[in-house]
Amino acid sequence: MTIGSETQLFNIKEYPCIRCDECALVCPVKLQPLQLHWYSQEFNEDRLDDYNLFACVECGNCSSVCPSHIPLVDEFKQAKSDILTKRSKRLKAEQNKQRYLKKQARIEQQKQDKIKKRATVVDKNADDDLAMKKKQDAIAAAVSRVKQKREQKQKQKES
Ligand code: SF4
Ligand code: SF4
Repeated sequence: MTIGSETQLFNIKEYPCIRCDECALVCPVKLQPLQLHWYSQEFNEDRLDDYNLFACVECGNCSSVCPSHIPLVDEFKQAKSDILTKRSKRLKAEQNKQRYLKKQARIEQQKQDKIKKRATVVDKNADDDLAMKKKQDAIAAAVSRVKQKREQKQKQKES
């Protein structure tokens, strides 16, 4: 059990920080518990990062020497937990956003593919129509030529 927890358990009165800096002197990882205390209070995530909150090994030394009985280590644990929860929510939201964007892109791609496919079919139909028209024109021209020849022969016979 940490000293901070004992402070709460035995209902020891907490006083404001007097900036004595005793907490910093006993920190094994050379943190500045005083600063971490301020920024934990206002939950300033960036400043807590600046002051290396996550390097805190939660030894409780700072809480045990604090003449104001501030449950420092408990504050730091809570701040870490709150930050991790917040970051996890942010990560989840970002993942959901990315999933949504990917899905939208996939839907748009499928739409474009359909439009392209439809345009290809329309082009092919137009080509087929053109080929058919050319064939019909060629047949009509041939029929007309045969008819002309027949008429010429008929005229020659008559003259
Ligand atoms: S609880 Fe954290 S801040 Fe306090 S002395 Fe230990 S390592 Fe340093
Ligand atoms: S030991 Fe307590 S009173 Fe002294 S600076 Fe640290 S937090 Fe403030």
